[in-house]
Amino acid sequence: MFMGGEEAGKRILLLMSPATYRAGAFLRAAQSLGLEVVVGLDLPERLTEYWHVPLGLDFGQVGSAVEAIVAYARERPFVAVLSVDDSATEVAAYANAALGLASNSPQASEAARDKLLMRRLLSTGGVPCPVFRNVGLQAEPGWIASQVSYPCVLKPRRLSGSRGVIRANNAEEFQVAFGRVKRLLLGEGVAEAEGTLLVEDFIPGVEVALEGLLTDGQLKVLTLFDKPDPLDGPFFEETIYVTPSRLPEETQQAIAECVVVAAGALGLCTGPVHAELRVNEGGPMLVEIAGRSIGGLCSTILEFGSGLSLEELILRHALGELVEEVEREGQAAGVMMIPIPVGGMYKGVYGVEEALGVPLITGIEITARVYNQVVPLPEGGSYLGFIFARGDDVVEVESALRVAHHCLRFEICRALPMVERRGLREAGAGW
Ligand code: ADP
Repeated sequence: MFMGGEEAGKRILLLMSPATYRAGAFLRAAQSLGLEVVVGLDLPERLTEYWHVPLGLDFGQVGSAVEAIVAYARERPFVAVLSVDDSATEVAAYANAALGLASNSPQASEAARDKLLMRRLLSTGGVPCPVFRNVGLQAEPGWIASQVSYPCVLKPRRLSGSRGVIRANNAEEFQVAFGRVKRLLLGEGVAEAEGTLLVEDFIPGVEVALEGLLTDGQLKVLTLFDKPDPLDGPFFEETIYVTPSRLPEETQQAIAECVVVAAGALGLCTGPVHAELRVNEGGPMLVEIAGRSIGGLCSTILEFGSGLSLEELILRHALGELVEEVEREGQAAGVMMIPIPVGGMYKGVYGVEEALGVPLITGIEITARVYNQVVPLPEGGSYLGFIFARGDDVVEVESALRVAHHCLRFEICRALPMVERRGLREAGAGW
């Protein structure tokens, strides 16, 4: 297994959007395996020509993106086509099918992207998940508010990173949340007449994230993360992930079993899976399952066997290598996704040196760019950065992340209220 160097000379296509956090890790992994990489970048056609990108693709136009990949592959064939994150899992599935390469079916990839389709397939497949309903954007929110039970969660069908996911505890909160998700979706280009959102019962409990690899429907659990900060809403910002999980062994087993059934219900059978579950006295309940690996820069803390990154493992698996015996390196590890506390212009951060000096902290990456706008949840979709930690004990790792976070002070110039912004624009200011 894992005979070094034998992948050299093979060409893979990595599909990514320009803003993805995942590019660096996958490109480094491909380089360390000696693979030739072609990047398929999500760009409108005119920008592709203007910027001379070798393979620009519009992920929103799946048919033409696949045609472009197939045409490219005629001259320079690929051994695998992978999407580095959620954005192109469907394009990758269709392209692999067209090129005769192993992958999840396009239908399974679509189900893993569309939360409504996912819920329908999960409930027919017998996977524990909450009661849900599909609501048109044109529905009368006051009437819907009188029909649902509380607390509930409203969520867009095809966004990710908890964008637009809002808890409502009563009819009044429901109506406000409905308006907010609707505005977000219209801003994303969803047509009001056809657009829908999902309303589901709020699942109480602790939350975990399972990272795994599927081979012919068999799940290899790579790691199970606890999310020790309560995720009770109204918005659901990710913060700390720590592994190994502190849940009892039988609960961890039940979580893995739930993920296997969920993958089967959607038809996901190969490649990375990232599943989010809630666990309460009734056992695990599936929040969502995606046919991709963990997002952000979180995979930085994972190491397998003798120093393999998660992305190297995924690429090797895509090229047909066996992964059953791979184990995560034994230390406790954790990452904190640093949430955006307030919207505005990001001006800088203080205290990084101090935070890096906290025992067990192994790195800090500030990903927000100075003088750029930062937008918190539920509308925003990014973090200020990431803090990484490792140690012998998971409790100490978690507390190191919290201490380091307290050392950081972010300077964010608050967004101006709309009225003032309009005044500034009229006075000729650019912002
Ligand atoms: P996304 O794909 O945008 O991350 P999810 O459906 O995974 O959307 O929801 C994001 C987060 O919102 C989840 O990780 C969870 O914390 C919370 N959440 C979503 N649905 C529910 C629910 N029905 N009950 C409780 N929490 C939920």
